[in-house]
Amino acid sequence: MQKKTVAFSKESSNLFFHILTRCNLSCAHCYINPDQHGRNTLSIDTIRRWLDLFSKNAPHTNLIFLGGEPTLHKDLSTAVKHARNRNFNSITIDTNGFLFHNILEKITPADVDVISFSLDGATSATNDAIRGQGSYDAVISGVHQARQKGFDCAMIYTVSDKNLHELSKMPDLVASLDIQRFFIQVIGMRGKSVTGGTHQVSRDLWLSVIPNVAETIAATGITVTYPKVFLEQGEAFSCAGIVADNYFVFPNGRVYRCPLCEDYPLHAYTIEDNTLVPSPPVNETHLFDLSIPEGCVINKIIQPGNLDYLPDGSPAHRIACCMLKQEISRSV
Ligand code: SF4
Ligand code: SF4
Repeated sequence: MQKKTVAFSKESSNLFFHILTRCNLSCAHCYINPDQHGRNTLSIDTIRRWLDLFSKNAPHTNLIFLGGEPTLHKDLSTAVKHARNRNFNSITIDTNGFLFHNILEKITPADVDVISFSLDGATSATNDAIRGQGSYDAVISGVHQARQKGFDCAMIYTVSDKNLHELSKMPDLVASLDIQRFFIQVIGMRGKSVTGGTHQVSRDLWLSVIPNVAETIAATGITVTYPKVFLEQGEAFSCAGIVADNYFVFPNGRVYRCPLCEDYPLHAYTIEDNTLVPSPPVNETHLFDLSIPEGCVINKIIQPGNLDYLPDGSPAHRIACCMLKQEISRSV
């Protein structure tokens, strides 16, 4: 089994492209905040132009189409093919499983690298309580359809206090689905999570459950990725906002460098007339440089519940950048 920390760097870029914010579901932890991200659906002409704007570094950029639900966009297939022509390093569609507009009939496995399905429970009872009635069945059926057509598939499980208890059941389900990758995410305290009564799990719970489940799934031959969250003693902290090249693009033109900032008008750039225009101070880039003993400064501002302090007031542990991942695979 090979376990490694996936360091981020300027050499590898990620473009998280929200082409609309509309969705058929209303998940309890949805991070989409229409007041901050807009309510519009980008036209295919705009999608093409914005892809071109980021295509200079396309061979080193992993592109992820997001929403809302991106398959609700009638021109998603055209957008995907345009991105392929621009030679992006990889193309992923993140979906809630409903696969609108017959998307699987309009693209082929040569057009996308991965179709990634979100599932937040090993049973429909738990998943649908979080994500909405029928969403479990939609994902299971969607994965089967996609695999039958030869698409590589991934699954994303966003861990919170509402579904941690079912993560240990996921290895059997995942093995039955013939998917290629499994991502464990930690719920971010933004969007609907802030008021929706969903919480992050404690450090002890996270460390006692996540690495073990990840190893069990990886032993079946599926590559598993999960966020590091808690740095170990002596492990270096670094901020992806400074040392990496990630862009989180929303349909109102806002472009963030850090996903934790997305609930606030702190975006580093705005796309205006197809140009990336830096935001006036203060924006997120002015916060990345702040050095604090707790590690990530934005984490301390927006989700300090995951911090603990020793009797002398110093932090018991440091929080890693949310973009720092652990990856486990069977191959060496
Ligand atoms: S499927 Fe995604 S975009 Fe839609 S409500 Fe759920 S989390 Fe939000
Ligand atoms: S999560 Fe923290 S460390 Fe990572 S980019 Fe944002 S501010 Fe930087």
